[in-house]
Amino acid sequence: MQGAFAEHIKALEAAGARTRLVRSREDLDGLDGIVLPGGESTTMTMLMERVGMLAPLRQAIERGLPTLATCAGMIVLAREITDGMADQKGLDLLDIAVRRNGYGRQVDSFEAPLQIDGLDGKTFPGVFIRAPLVERTGDVEVIARHDGHPVAVRHGRITALGFHPELSGDLRLHREFVRLAAGQR
Ligand code: GLN
Repeated sequence: MQGAFAEHIKALEAAGARTRLVRSREDLDGLDGIVLPGGESTTMTMLMERVGMLAPLRQAIERGLPTLATCAGMIVLAREITDGMADQKGLDLLDIAVRRNGYGRQVDSFEAPLQIDGLDGKTFPGVFIRAPLVERTGDVEVIARHDGHPVAVRHGRITALGFHPELSGDLRLHREFVRLAAGQR
């Protein structure tokens, strides 16, 4: 709908996937997986609601569509959103509470090496841009932390990241996602 999708397309195609933009509910048909990119979560949910995509997208992800959500995408999935617009609706599919732009002004963008469970043990370059701060986690698996705060979580076939792997030049997370999506065929 909005945001940093062009870089995800490049990373997904480099990882061997074919991609398409999802801008209407019809575009959801026949997908093996979906990426919810970074951008502005308030704009994304507003646009999704306008085109009637919130409910069908929620249903598809709930039924097990492999999903990679980054930054604003993580906010869109979250159960609780603080510092959002008063009526910011989320998909309520991930049992986490996030604070928008929760890293504050001074460090609103930064890079940090992350140790991510399930990767090969080498650190992943975490690119954080006005990232959400995960303040509470419930029924999710935390697969990476930074300064004690969860920055990557997993639940079923959903992987949600507070950072931007598509801007890191490191394809490992996209490759892992493409393998998962291909395995669902
Ligand atoms: N601050 C944005 C939001 O609240 C997220 C920033 C990003 O996706 N890089 O939606």
